[in-house]
Amino acid sequence: MIVTESRANEIKAASKDYPSITLDERGLCDLELLAVGGFSPLKTFMGQNDYLSVLQNMRLANGTLWPLPVTLPVDPSSGLEVGKPLALRDVYGNLVGLLHVQEIYPIEKPLEAASAYGTHDPLHPSVAYLNRSSGHYCSGPLEVIRVPPHYDFVSLRRTPAELREHFEKLGWSKIVAFQTSAYMFRPHEEPARNAASQIGAGLLIQPVVGTTKPGDVDHYTRIRSYKALAETAFEPGQCVLSLLPLTTRMAGPRDALLGSIISRNFGCTHFMVGPDHSSPGLDSNGKPFYSPLAAQEFLKSNQDEIGVRPIGYTPWVYLPDLDQFASPDDIPAGSKTADISADQVRDDYLARGIPLPDWFCRPAVASILSEISPPKNRQGLTIWFTGLSGSGKSTIAHGLVERLAEYGRNVAFLDGDEIRTHLSKGLGFSKEDRDTNIHRVGYVAGLLAAQGGTTICSVVSPYRAPRDHARKLSRGHFVEIFCDTPIDICETRDVKGLYAKARAAVADGKGLGFTGVDDPYEPPLNPEVTLNTSRLGVPECVDVIVGKLKELGYITD
Ligand code: ADP
Repeated sequence: MIVTESRANEIKAASKDYPSITLDERGLCDLELLAVGGFSPLKTFMGQNDYLSVLQNMRLANGTLWPLPVTLPVDPSSGLEVGKPLALRDVYGNLVGLLHVQEIYPIEKPLEAASAYGTHDPLHPSVAYLNRSSGHYCSGPLEVIRVPPHYDFVSLRRTPAELREHFEKLGWSKIVAFQTSAYMFRPHEEPARNAASQIGAGLLIQPVVGTTKPGDVDHYTRIRSYKALAETAFEPGQCVLSLLPLTTRMAGPRDALLGSIISRNFGCTHFMVGPDHSSPGLDSNGKPFYSPLAAQEFLKSNQDEIGVRPIGYTPWVYLPDLDQFASPDDIPAGSKTADISADQVRDDYLARGIPLPDWFCRPAVASILSEISPPKNRQGLTIWFTGLSGSGKSTIAHGLVERLAEYGRNVAFLDGDEIRTHLSKGLGFSKEDRDTNIHRVGYVAGLLAAQGGTTICSVVSPYRAPRDHARKLSRGHFVEIFCDTPIDICETRDVKGLYAKARAAVADGKGLGFTGVDDPYEPPLNPEVTLNTSRLGVPECVDVIVGKLKELGYITD
């Protein structure tokens, strides 16, 4: 229940004295669905009776069919108490709700894993989440102050009441829900369109935009692509697009059941369910967690009780000779067929900037996807020089900055000395400070890489772990250049006189912790490029790097 403004003000004024917890993304999504009626009949996070009953019988304590826990994990040592209100906040500290705590009860981890998710395998995202949770859930009447504010695609976010009213205005009495967390290409679009038209229903495309499986496609791109699809592939009044703030539990059949209960709450009468619905992929033994058709069978056996008819489907197949799609059951014998797998979409088309063919993907959708997944030569990149002082990093890096401009790659240059006068001013040379310095450089480069920028970093970066961390922050778009110049050469060069100072300090018994003299340098294990500048001149070193960048696809002639 969302409280009135005056009650919200009362709660806000009093909340300073209440214990509080910060909801994670899943907690916020659940709170939103509880508040707007998406999880009806649930009005708050489950108490122990409902929780155990769902695990043991797949029903709430009052007998209503319900497949999965909707619970609030808490740490009892954080000051919360039965009888005391608990303030619920988002990560920015905003008060979003108040829970009048009536119970704090232990999480039955092994039982929940086995009953709800059908596995104890930590590769299952919900089992991993459960394992990370503290040992208790809590429950009680919930007052929601506001649903978490959204600033993206606001016009596409309708509550169940708003959506039902919208269906009424459209004169729809039958509505097919298509919930999805993947891109929607024609092999899925065609069966959805066909199912709706067969029964004279409207189609609701309901993208799931809560936390999905790690590595799941960025939801903004998905929504832009659904918008383009709804606007270009359907006649006005045929299809409605509305976002669903749900954290999927990736629980296959049980997730499908929860999805269809939610769709009923949003006013739908039918629910599309494909193979591998809400599948978390493969388990630790390389086997699927759920059989591909489990969700379809499960919904069929429960449809009467939920009041939503499942429509099982298999993605349709393209028949190039007829230039049309057909259900796999209706392919004329001997027909030529064509398909593109999800892996091919990612690796053979999007990653290479090759547009998806019109027969597979609506052109308006393809152009959004090609914008967001540019070819490698237009993707962000971090080029990381590491090596001893005087090993040639900055000299070669300067040459590289100029050469890369030839290929249209404009570069931000983060040079070690400059970093220490600005970004890392005040840091010293202890191991901790050096790690902090490198983390900062890696963080900035990672931010730029995520936005398509190219950064060259020239930093001694003596320790392996922070360099590897920087690689992760650039999401693998990272080329490590190891300037493997022998220390005696670096020392002979002694560009800034630092080796002389370091040796003198060691001789005085007051070491400076200088890399290569009295502090270790950990060479990279698999650098993309290794250069020995005592053997190769600067232009040759730049050539070697340019050759490697071409080979990796980051620059093209
Ligand atoms: P770092 O940035 O690794 O501390 P610098 O680039 O500042 O190293 O200094 C390297 C020194 O070595 C410069 O004076 C440069 O002119 C000299 N040098 C000689 N040969 C090379 C080479 N092949 N590559 C890079 N630098 C070289």
